[in-house]
This record gives sequence, C-alpha cells and structure tokens, in this order.
Amino acid sequence: MPSGPKALAPKLSGVKAVAAKPSGVKPGGPAETGTQPAATAGPTLTAGPTGTTGPAGTAGPGRAAEAGTAESGGQNSPAALPGLPSTLNSRARTLAGAVQRRCAELVAMESPTGDVPRLNLLAEELTAGFRATGAQVRRESGVAGDHLVLEWAGQEENLPHVLVVGHHDTVWPVGTLADWPVQEADGLLSGPGILDMKAGLALLEGAFALLADLGQRPHRPVRLVVVADEEVGSPDGRRLVERQLPGAAAVLGLEPPHPDGRVKTARRGSTRVLLTVTGREAHAGNDAGQGTSAVDELVDQLVAVRGLVGQPGTELNAGRISGGSRANVVAGRAEAELGLRFATAEAQSRTLDTLAQLTALRPGARVRTEVLSSRPAWPERTGDPLLRHVRSLAAVLGQQLDGAPAGGAGDTNLAGARGLPTLDGLGAVGAGSHARGERIEIAQLAPRIALLAALLAVPLPRLRDRP
Ligand SMILES: [Zn+2]
Repeated sequence: MPSGPKALAPKLSGVKAVAAKPSGVKPGGPAETGTQPAATAGPTLTAGPTGTTGPAGTAGPGRAAEAGTAESGGQNSPAALPGLPSTLNSRARTLAGAVQRRCAELVAMESPTGDVPRLNLLAEELTAGFRATGAQVRRESGVAGDHLVLEWAGQEENLPHVLVVGHHDTVWPVGTLADWPVQEADGLLSGPGILDMKAGLALLEGAFALLADLGQRPHRPVRLVVVADEEVGSPDGRRLVERQLPGAAAVLGLEPPHPDGRVKTARRGSTRVLLTVTGREAHAGNDAGQGTSAVDELVDQLVAVRGLVGQPGTELNAGRISGGSRANVVAGRAEAELGLRFATAEAQSRTLDTLAQLTALRPGARVRTEVLSSRPAWPERTGDPLLRHVRSLAAVLGQQLDGAPAGGAGDTNLAGARGLPTLDGLGAVGAGSHARGERIEIAQLAPRIALLAALLAVPLPRLRDRP
C-alpha cells in the first residue's frame, strides 16, 4: 500500500522525477544482468544520476515501494564499488533534505516511554514510511506499546539476515515540545528525542528509500526491530530483539555514535535493581521502640551496597529513593532504585549475586532486591572484522570513520554479549542524548545515509572465525 501522507518516500518521488531515471537501472533486463560478471554492475548502478529524466508520470507515490520489491537491477559486489560510491553520495545528498524534514516530523510526535497511545501513533507513522521503501511490517503489541518487526527482502534470499535494532520511545515527557520545539541553528537540528533516536530511524528510512530509488534490494535480507520501551531497558521489547538474533550475520544499532562520529564497538552491561525495605510503623514519640524504621534500614543498606560495588568494573548510581510518610511516624516502607554498570560479565554476575543475598541489618526489617531490567556486558572484540568492513566502506565513500567502546547500554548489548558481529552508533551524529538541547549535525545526514545504504547493499565479508 502507499505510505501515509507524511512518509518519506512519497516526498522523495518529487525529487526522483527530476533526478532519477527509473528505466535506467535495468538496461540489460533484470535476469540477465544478475548472472553477468560483477564488473557490469558498476555501469548499471551509476546509470541513474547521469541518465536522462524519466517521465514525471512514473514517479507517483507508490513508485518507491514498487521499486523496492521489483527484480533487482544488478548484483552488488565489491567490484561494483567503483561506480557505487559516487551514486550513493550524490543520491544521499539529494535525500538529506527530506530526511531532515522526516526527523522533524518524528520529533513532533512526542513518544515518552509508557505513553501507549502516542507510541502506537508513532508506530503507525513509522510503518507507513518503511512500507513505502518495500518493507513487510508486523506490529507486535506489548504492555509498553506496539513494537515493530520489519523485513526487507534481499537479493540473496538464502543468506543469513542483517538485524538492525532501534526504538521509538524517548525520555521526554509530553509537553516538552511546547517550550522546546524542533529548532535549526548553526547547522544543528535540536528537539526532544531527535538524537536518541528519531534521526536514526529517519536515516534508515532514507537509506532504504535510496536503494529503492535505485531499483536495488539490500544484498541479504534485512530485519529491523523497533521497540517501544528501550529507554527503561526494554523489559518487554527485548524478547523481540532476542528472537531475531539467532543466525544473524551482523547486528547494527541505530543509537547515536560518539559525539565525534565514531561508532560503538562495545557497551558496558547495565542493570536496574529495586531495593525494597519493609519495617514496622509506630508513633515516633510514644512507641518508637515498637517500630522498625525502613528508612534507617535503607540508608544503612545503601552504605553497605556502596562498599560492595566499589570494585573495579562496577559503578553504582543510587538514582531514586523514597520512603516513610511523616516526621512523627517510624517509616514502615522505603525503597531505592539503583542503576549499575559493569565492564565485564564477571563483574555483573558477581555483583548481582551479592545484591540478591542482602539481608536486613536490624531485627524486624526485611530487605528484598528485584532486578527491573538487565543488559549483559558486550565486550570489545579485538581486530573487529565488522568495524574493519564499515571503516573501509566509509573510506570508499570518502569518509573517515572509526569505532570505540561506549559507556551506556542498549539493545545491541544483547547481540554483542552473544558474540555476534555487532556495531552500534550508526544513527545520527550529534550530542546531548537525554539532555535538554540534544541535537544532530545536519551536514552529517548525507554521509550517514550513504554509509547505511552501502552497508545494506554491499556483501558482508566473513565476520566470524568459524564457518
Ligand atoms: Zn536510544
């Protein structure tokens, strides 16, 4: 079906009418071209931008979707690269304006974690946009809102899939837009949730629109999981990501890169723990001896916990505490939500074991620990072949790109912890995630669209040690 009114591809069709040459991508006929030596693919792929203008009537709203599912016009292979980079770069530059508008549209639809109606509305909008690039879309309802599982057919249908992971929830409450609307200044575009990660979703839509525009499919099947609850650790959405992991050739995350543009090659493990203390209420003046203060117990527990986790590779943030009712009542209940970060899987299991065994320090009190969400540590891989591949693709596109480990956790932890070839930070370049004023660099949109499109279109090298 055609996309919704706001989807990216239809807007591109206006661009396509002057820039694309719909018939130019398959001059030799799809079947023949596909079996010819890779060297013939170069001219096929470069035919578009230099070709003559196609009839405007062929560039209707549904065209991108048709192109995405049509027979591919040529085989992408490394040998095709000589023609591919300039095509990708020029198309990406043409598309960047539409992707920028798409970023603004997605930001304008506020979607804080937990706001099911708003998240579902945005899921609908994303569905329309991705469908217009040829995706099959499945909505999976969850307690936190609808998640999306999308699939694009590949030229080589039998190859293991590439998995892309993203999310459409943000940390920003509804109403944030009222005093912080989408703003463009000094080459930056800011708005709540733009960097983390609405721009990442818009970039991927742009990359698929670019391929569809060229009459190309990705080299192998691509799946995308968009979860609705990433910002609280994906307690529900994680099952969908995990379901798509087995057999994945590579896993790519659309989270923002490091502020200097480097992609993320590892992530620390992260766990949220709720520490609940139960005491006994009593009148603080008359019967203090009859009571057991949950607040006092919690304070002592926090001091003890701080000592326990004060070991290398573990960091603790006591992010929220609450408890008690009033000054003249001995507190019957108190709780703290702890955020823990781990450099290694060993540090993670050791610390969580210790926390699970906490016992009350005073008679009459009870202590309970509950893991609210947990992401395993994703260790760095020496000589990371996926990073090498991305780095060399970037170089061919005239970009300089490198990678580095990240402090925060994301859904790519689930893949990296299993040893799957994984990279994150393929989203928009910018700064200030989760901070007032988060922003993206507009000039970096085109390079990222081109990079993502290349990553999808060019065959992956061998990424695992064992066959
Ligand atoms: Zn994020």
